[in-house]
Amino acid sequence: MTLGGTLTAAADARAAHRTAASWPYTELDVPALRAGGWRPTPVHDVVLKVHQRCNLACDYCYVYTQTDQSWRDRPAQMSEEVWRAAVARLAVHAHRHGLTSVRVILHGGEPMLFGVARLGELADEIRAALPAGCAVEIGMQTNGVLLDEAAVHQLRDHGILVGVSVDGVAADHDRHRRAPNGRGSFAAVRAGLDLLRRPENRAAYAGILCTVAPDTDPVACYEQVLAFEPPLVDFLLPHANWQQQP
Ligand code: SF4
Repeated sequence: MTLGGTLTAAADARAAHRTAASWPYTELDVPALRAGGWRPTPVHDVVLKVHQRCNLACDYCYVYTQTDQSWRDRPAQMSEEVWRAAVARLAVHAHRHGLTSVRVILHGGEPMLFGVARLGELADEIRAALPAGCAVEIGMQTNGVLLDEAAVHQLRDHGILVGVSVDGVAADHDRHRRAPNGRGSFAAVRAGLDLLRRPENRAAYAGILCTVAPDTDPVACYEQVLAFEPPLVDFLLPHANWQQQP
């Protein structure tokens, strides 16, 4: 058989396998697994995407500016019926597995578009629903643009830890993290971070998420991030794959 023929036969075999068993759950024998001692691993970390839209249009955003445009067909925000159902299911899960800790991250899009009062209500409901012996950590990852004084105080008072995305110095940040009208967001994000750094708000300051483009000056970026005095920093590269390299 030629190389081309071999590859064609292999592709045919893979296609036949996909058709016969497109998802392996049909091959799982859970009772047999349990009898052999297997136990499911309970979920401790949950990401709730409470708002599907964003007030920024970052050029590397894998939600809005790249291939997967499925967000267009989804509701703009999580309905009360859905978030209450999610809280109820999480409580059942925590009870059933005797969880001693749970972490919930409020995410988006931009979660602040959900409204800070509703975020506080949701956080309170999560805490009230989970068992007494279960430590609950509630965090939020925001682009920081809507963090004014009143919002930061409400988030702090509802025990929501705030992580902020900022990409180093103003020029680098504003090259990528822009509003739909093209305006950079660094000034607004810096103002939000200055609020979180205040002693009375520090307990609500979770840290910084910093996306580092390959053409970024790493030292300038690092020094700028340190100037925001974050308790924790996550650095990451822009989303990339073979078709779309950074
Ligand atoms: S802030 Fe986040 S969700 Fe919004 S456009 Fe930028 S990367 Fe995407």
